[in-house]
Amino acid sequence: MSNSLKFPWKEPADYGALQPLQEGICWLRLPLPFALDHINVWLLESSSGWSLVDTGIRRDEVKQLWKQLLGGVMKEKPLEQILVTHFHPDHFGLSGWLQQQTGAVVRMTEVEWQRGVKLKGDVDSVLFNQQIDLYRNHGLDESWCQRLEARGNPYPHNVSFPPAEIKPLTEHGSVEMGDDSWQVIIVTGHAPGQACLYQPETGILIAGDQILPTITPNVTLTADRADGDPLGDYLGSLKLLSILPDETLVLPSHGLPFYGLRQRISEIEIHHQERFDQLTALCEQPRSAGEVLEALFPRTLDIHQIMFAMGEAISHLVFLHQADHLLKIEDGGVIRYHHC
Ligand SMILES: [Zn+2]
Repeated sequence: MSNSLKFPWKEPADYGALQPLQEGICWLRLPLPFALDHINVWLLESSSGWSLVDTGIRRDEVKQLWKQLLGGVMKEKPLEQILVTHFHPDHFGLSGWLQQQTGAVVRMTEVEWQRGVKLKGDVDSVLFNQQIDLYRNHGLDESWCQRLEARGNPYPHNVSFPPAEIKPLTEHGSVEMGDDSWQVIIVTGHAPGQACLYQPETGILIAGDQILPTITPNVTLTADRADGDPLGDYLGSLKLLSILPDETLVLPSHGLPFYGLRQRISEIEIHHQERFDQLTALCEQPRSAGEVLEALFPRTLDIHQIMFAMGEAISHLVFLHQADHLLKIEDGGVIRYHHC
């Protein structure tokens, strides 16, 4: 954990317990069934009702926590709106279900909603297998490809039936939450149109997964945008947030709330620069993303982590190729990169 960030709350509350941060804004931690075992969501109270930012993954235990909250500490006022930062299952997972339970309006960017709806419908793993094919082309070991194909797309299982309609969040737009107006800042790279929310008077940034205190968010080249440069997008979006005041309180989706926004942005930039240097050296010989995995991630990866690791490796190599640092060579159906 970085020494220079300040963490005003040393511990999270128990799963499902509201922890007040400031007047009218509460932190709620929900469990996740992964190595990353939790997500933070945020509840804002106004005179008329509650706004929620992000919802948790579709699991019975998470639904149970929501039922207790809605029938308990939240029951005096309605849940009026559900904001979703992006389509990933820990954020979007229960938005449809919560909407059904409460009648709340769901707000998120159009592109994130469409992506979530599309992946929820991918019950035959057609889209998922396109992603595995992309990994295969980038040199992922065939035994991994087959294990992933045999497992199929976990997304439909992790997300409840999505909201049938949303009220879109748009760039430079604003949204009323609690008794304040929050600015919408759209960032890309981790997801196609993630919404961060910033309140200038209280100096709070709800950062989604864009800036996390101890880990870097996953950035993956996706098959539907195979000619993109997601890491270039991500680093560009960090610049948008670096103009916010340094005394901003950052509320991240994973880890603890912290002060030290610019410091953390600079740490993340340094991390990626180190990866670039490492990959440039590794690519003195032509190498595929699959062939650099072990050097980049020298630990045993599970079936969930291998997807993230491949995504990271590819997005770094693509960034270096698009910046004219690496040549791209396609040989025998495998894409390799070469520094020469
Ligand atoms: Zn995410």
